[in-house]
Amino acid sequence: DDLLDWLKSGWLAWALDEGEQPRPPDVSLLRATDELESWCRRHGLLGAWGLQIPAPVPGDIGDDALPAEWIPSGRQAMPASAAHLWRWASYVVQPLQDLWSSKRPSLQDWLAGLQAALARAGALPVLMADEAGELALQSLRFDLLDANEPAGGLWAGLSSMTRLDGPAFLRWVSTVLEATTFRPPAPEQPADVVITPLARAVLRPFQAIVLPGADERQLGAMGSQSGWMGTRLREALDLATPMTQRAAQWDAFTLLMTRPGVICLYRLAQGSEPLEPSAWLERWATQAGQGIGQAADARLTVSIEPCPVYPPLPSLKEALWALPGQVTATSYEALRQCPYRFFANSVLGLREHDELEEGLDRSDFGIWLHEVLRRFHEQRQGQLAISSEAEDVQAWLDAAQHVLHETGLDRDSQRPFFLPFQADLDRLARAYVKWLRAHESGGWSLQDSERVAQRDLPISENLSVKLYGQIDRIDARHHEGGKQHLVLDYKTGSLEGLKRKVAQPLEDTQLAFYAALSDPQWVVSASYLHLDAQDVKQLDHPDVQRSAQALLDGLARDWSRLHAGAAMPALGEGSACTYCQARGLCRKDHWTVQEAST
Ligand code: SF4
Repeated sequence: DDLLDWLKSGWLAWALDEGEQPRPPDVSLLRATDELESWCRRHGLLGAWGLQIPAPVPGDIGDDALPAEWIPSGRQAMPASAAHLWRWASYVVQPLQDLWSSKRPSLQDWLAGLQAALARAGALPVLMADEAGELALQSLRFDLLDANEPAGGLWAGLSSMTRLDGPAFLRWVSTVLEATTFRPPAPEQPADVVITPLARAVLRPFQAIVLPGADERQLGAMGSQSGWMGTRLREALDLATPMTQRAAQWDAFTLLMTRPGVICLYRLAQGSEPLEPSAWLERWATQAGQGIGQAADARLTVSIEPCPVYPPLPSLKEALWALPGQVTATSYEALRQCPYRFFANSVLGLREHDELEEGLDRSDFGIWLHEVLRRFHEQRQGQLAISSEAEDVQAWLDAAQHVLHETGLDRDSQRPFFLPFQADLDRLARAYVKWLRAHESGGWSLQDSERVAQRDLPISENLSVKLYGQIDRIDARHHEGGKQHLVLDYKTGSLEGLKRKVAQPLEDTQLAFYAALSDPQWVVSASYLHLDAQDVKQLDHPDVQRSAQALLDGLARDWSRLHAGAAMPALGEGSACTYCQARGLCRKDHWTVQEAST
């Protein structure tokens, strides 16, 4: 997201006909950024970092699309304009990237690299043309980098001796910029409203004065002593004490009150604690012999009709064409849990954007692990000789290294995020191979992995729906004179959650859905395969063929009802709602509680 924010910042100028990486004539920076963002969000950060783009060659803008070997396997092609932008962005940050991977460059090298990157991005002239931008550049002292500059000699010497790694340079830049304040020049016309502290308000010719915070907590309250010096020491050193500060505030207040028409405002309460007006108002009125008038409350009373919010009840009665023609295990699960969620995700096609943040979470690790297993089995199936357990473990680890490289997780910037997972890879490889060999001794062998499967389900004369899914793995064996298929779904989450799922087989959509997608001529069974370094556990669905038939019957019924215009109420409960992306849309948190009718 930081990279995308930078591309959208408005400071960049992707030159059309100058520079070493010019913009193609029909591509705008905004459009290319949008396309790059869509691609990255579709594939996640893991996909984005996996782009194996070689160092750009000056003057070479490349082909329209990224060559297929640069795109990690399993990813869609990147649109041409996004690919151009990605290459241009790589070219822009290359001076900094080179320094990031070298050994503690000097501050001078970093500043020269930053200057070069800003120049490549076209941001340098834009910043120099802006007063605040110019100040930012001055505070970074680009102009003093040249040792031949008379004023720059000392700074150039110091900056060439100071050595920093990448994170330290980032801290240095943010400290320097934080310490720099840009104050725009004051407008020539005097301001209509001036907000100023009490001490600075006195003896100034204001037309009218509003003094907010005239309550017992703010005006005339004794300040607390801060710092390590006590009151006695402060008095001895002739420094301000809470008493002298309070006396100075009183002087400023009385001087301000000599102006005509001062309006003092105070709050009636701070949170649940009631507040009184400051005692100084009374004290000043007594001393000055003047009354303080109580102004009427200036707020207007507005009556608002109650607008109860009820759970939504959309229906496709008027828009049968919007009923999706395809259903996946996830979308059908949504329909079973909460029809409104299905409406939001599958009918309206709404999706929440995942944050693209640095780091690697468990779901990224899951995607990575799927790819490792696919590659491991692909290579294993190509072997002519039967491998030993130790060879299998080594082949698994080799596949892991290969995918690490392919997804860019072995780069300097990404390696630290993978370290927590890296520590368990050996044990995971051994646990997986141990399970695999025991599994194969039962006659099973891998038939296919990551297979995209689909099947038409005819419902009535003019209604059908297509079941669509990607099955992690299908194993097969010959048993008791027939062929059996086993559908396996890899899981890395909670083992307890999986146990609960298989304990209620008719409630579990996923395995039943994949079984329904399998080749109907074979006996099929289905299991979750829980992948953990401690142990790899297979959790079998007790009767998946019956569940698959029940799912198909239920799906046909549900689709007929939706097609007949049945409402899709928001019925979600518990954890379904806790992690629901449509929660803001169904407005569950704002529903008006309806009283039970008597
Ligand atoms: S928050 Fe709950 S009720 Fe609302 S759409 Fe999501 S699952 Fe349904």
